Amino acid sequence: AAKNGGRGQFRFYSDDLKDEEQERELLLEDLRIALEAGDLELRYQPVVKTSDNSVVCLEALMRWEHPERGPVSPDVFIPVAEESDLINQIGEWALQRACVDAMAWPSSVRVAVNVSAVQFTNPEFCNVVSAALAHSGLLPDRLELELTESVFVGDSETTEAVFTDLKKIGVRLALDDFGTGYSSLSYLRSAPFDKIKVDRSFVDSCTQKDKNSAKIIAAIIGLSNALGMETTVEGVEAFDQLEVVHSKGARLIQGFLYSRALPQADVLELMANGGMKIEPDGPEMYRPERR
Ligand code: C2E
Ligand code: MG
Ligand code: MG
Ligand code: MG
Repeated sequence: AAKNGGRGQFRFYSDDLKDEEQERELLLEDLRIALEAGDLELRYQPVVKTSDNSVVCLEALMRWEHPERGPVSPDVFIPVAEESDLINQIGEWALQRACVDAMAWPSSVRVAVNVSAVQFTNPEFCNVVSAALAHSGLLPDRLELELTESVFVGDSETTEAVFTDLKKIGVRLALDDFGTGYSSLSYLRSAPFDKIKVDRSFVDSCTQKDKNSAKIIAAIIGLSNALGMETTVEGVEAFDQLEVVHSKGARLIQGFLYSRALPQADVLELMANGGMKIEPDGPEMYRPERR
């Protein structure tokens, strides 16, 4: 097939697939270099308790500024890393970094770290978690691991064993992006989650009367409460959304209305200034994502 016809125009399907494969290889290689060079960064997005606007937790979100491409989204580079062992190294780095950073925060504030299903099924995973806690000195109860339903895809005995070990270590477990996967009531029966995070896709449409999103949010919160779990609603960007989700029982909120993910330096500044409180739609500095 002619290669000169502009992107995709005169190519065979298989050529495009090959390009995609090469593209991923390149990205993977650059990511490996970035990890070694210390070019990956964690930002921390506050989770706010609506009753007093206090920050109860901060979620570590990975940021990568590619030297030529500019910022690459974790939604792009995490899946690439997951196809190799690199996800385990990146994940270990994130756990260590997040625990160390959290040691500089008030002890009432937790840190949440996203864990890929590939990491979760790695036999070394629990040791990695223990080591990150031991080296930083962070109390296990202050570390919350965010897992998605994809951790249940693997062998169920292995999964159960990992859950048991994590509970022994004493970390908290959150089920992330709830409501978007294969939906998961059977997982909730056996897995020892402390928290459910309602996926932000429900918040997107919760102010539209014709959609069922607001009712689904209410039902998830009801389910979560009944099971003795906490609930965080993710992705609240506007006051009308806050109003709706609050009326449905949401008390822990994470979203751009309060704050984007902040560099550690800004987290420390926030603690020094506001005693770790954020008003919805508060100071501009928390809203644009700074690089
Ligand atoms: P997630 O764990 O569900 O994280 C929440 C995502 O929603 C973040 O995107 C956050 O910036 C975004 N978000 C929060 N509030 C709002 C809002 O009000 N509006 C909108 N439009 N978005 C909001 P981000 O940082 O791009 O991360 C995307 C995903 O990449 C994460 O989804 C998580 O699955 C993955 N990820 C990020 N960091 C890591 C990491 O360190 N390890 C692993 N394994 N995955 C990570
Ligand atoms: Mg998450
Ligand atoms: Mg999520
Ligand atoms: Mg997500």
